[in-house]
Amino acid sequence: MPHVVTQSCCSDGSCVFACPVNCIHPTPDEPDFLTAEMLHIDPAACVDCGACVSACPVDAIAPQSRLRPDQQIFVPINAAYYADDDATMRPWLAPVTPAPVVTDRGLRVAIVGSGPAAMYAADELLTQPGVRVNIFDRLPVPYGLVRSGVAPDHPKTKRVTELFDTIAGQEGLEFYLNVEVGRDISHRELLDHHHAVIYAYGAATDRPLNIPGADLPGSSSATEFVAWVNGHPDYRDWSVDLSHRRAVIIGNGNVALDVARILTADPDSLATTDISDVALAALRNSRVEEVVIVGRRGPAQSAFTLPELIGLSTYPDATVTLSGGDRELVAAAVSGADGDLAAKLEVLSTMAAAAEPGRRAINLRYLLSPTEVLGSSSVTGVRFVENAIDPATGTISATDRLVDLDAGLVLRSIGYRGRALPGVPFDPDRAVVPNVGGRALDRVGGVPETGVYAVGWIKRGPSGFIGTNKSCSQETVGALVDDFNRGVLAAPRVGDSHLGALIAGRVGDRIDRHGWQRIDRSERARGLGVRGRVKYLTAAELVAAAERDRPRGKGRSGLVDRLMTAGR
Ligand code: NAP
Repeated sequence: MPHVVTQSCCSDGSCVFACPVNCIHPTPDEPDFLTAEMLHIDPAACVDCGACVSACPVDAIAPQSRLRPDQQIFVPINAAYYADDDATMRPWLAPVTPAPVVTDRGLRVAIVGSGPAAMYAADELLTQPGVRVNIFDRLPVPYGLVRSGVAPDHPKTKRVTELFDTIAGQEGLEFYLNVEVGRDISHRELLDHHHAVIYAYGAATDRPLNIPGADLPGSSSATEFVAWVNGHPDYRDWSVDLSHRRAVIIGNGNVALDVARILTADPDSLATTDISDVALAALRNSRVEEVVIVGRRGPAQSAFTLPELIGLSTYPDATVTLSGGDRELVAAAVSGADGDLAAKLEVLSTMAAAAEPGRRAINLRYLLSPTEVLGSSSVTGVRFVENAIDPATGTISATDRLVDLDAGLVLRSIGYRGRALPGVPFDPDRAVVPNVGGRALDRVGGVPETGVYAVGWIKRGPSGFIGTNKSCSQETVGALVDDFNRGVLAAPRVGDSHLGALIAGRVGDRIDRHGWQRIDRSERARGLGVRGRVKYLTAAELVAAAERDRPRGKGRSGLVDRLMTAGR
């Protein structure tokens, strides 16, 4: 009985390299790896050994015999990927990119940000003996969007933090949490203390929607909503008006689907997750009955991925509807589609034509571009213009037909956007650190900035899945190690012990990896075995949790820390 890749696939490719018969594709070296919406197991070649199950960090793979009814759809989806494929033409094993060999001891690297890209980069560096990695994050807790971006009702995806905890437990790694680069320590100072700095700080803001009314009360961004439900300390006091019947989400990527599910979820099922208690209380009082997800292009250009659409199609808490002209658009797009796109359209065609009375609904709409958020003192609706689409190119053009949707809440979900850090090169058009293969350039089209690298969304823009960052990190770390081995990187001017002293002098509440472990244990304990964790929602609470049960003699204040570190 072959194994099957299911919804929570993160595309990190660990399964690919664990497979002894190279039956999981696309592999990271194959051309469609960066665009594939999931990995697929060839049922004809799978030898059922289960090595992929152990390797997968997010529990996405199961033997076919153990799939739940709602997962059965992944059997033909995995198989269809190999419809025109000849297994005998494949190499015996997926080609492994060898870890870069550091030829000299003592490489010291700072990583700014602690999300997936940072953790995969640290892991890649720490395969070599004698390498030291210091990870900086302005928040008191690590793991970036895995903690504050992945929807709380996706606990399997969050399991990747177990892998990150293992990486963080390695001897050569230290966390400098609650330390903001650009405020508490400068780019120049990081370079003084390390051979190289890898920027991995992601895309912390959202793309703006420049239409009239976009700033009205009741109009916010999906990224803020997601941060709020996930207990991001900056959003503890954020508020959202859930007193109206309908909410509209602009954009139809995976974030839009996450937000729609949370807005329509049964609060009792959310209460078993690690959702913020503040958000849960607000959602218990919500009057939202319908969420409309609006795409400006057609069904074939939907930005959500096939696995996430399948998850939505079996969502128990709301009816997902596709009505009228949108059903016709799906039917028209099916002809000529193949692979995962054909499967996506097929799933869309099974959506209900109308909402079931008495149930919450998620309505998918297409070919509508927002032109104005309506309302005077707060949002009352959104005005859209209907688009025509060229099916061959997916290009849209506005018609003269307008559509108004009443709503009390409008969330734009049109993608994340990176921002500049003081002293670090930045491309304002693409909102990334300009780079070639992870080597930062001093400006767009310029020359390499010695010792400066980028990885993850601040390197390539806000796209891909958690695991996409693994191969992205391998490329950046490969470039860094190559530069180090060639003697391009200047040795740190200052010893590592001075870094602790410098930070202790500026940040009284810096949290190290032991502090994070104490927060982690405490939050899990608060879950009482019913919830994975109950998050602390403010920086002060997190700092207090990091200090609690700190071993005696290690100092409890910034002053003691400073004295101790300086004396090392
Ligand atoms: P996204 O996938 O880039 O989707 C953005 C959406 O906004 C698209 O529908 C886009 O339409 C639309 N859009 C952009 N500008 C617009 C405008 N001016 N007016 C109207 N619509 C506009 O972004 P995302 O949902 O934030 O996701 C970011 C990344 O995270 C993606 O790679 C996603 O797969 C990933 N993610 C994954 C998961 C998961 O695996 N479970 C969960 C969340 C996020 P066009 O296509 O027409 O540009």
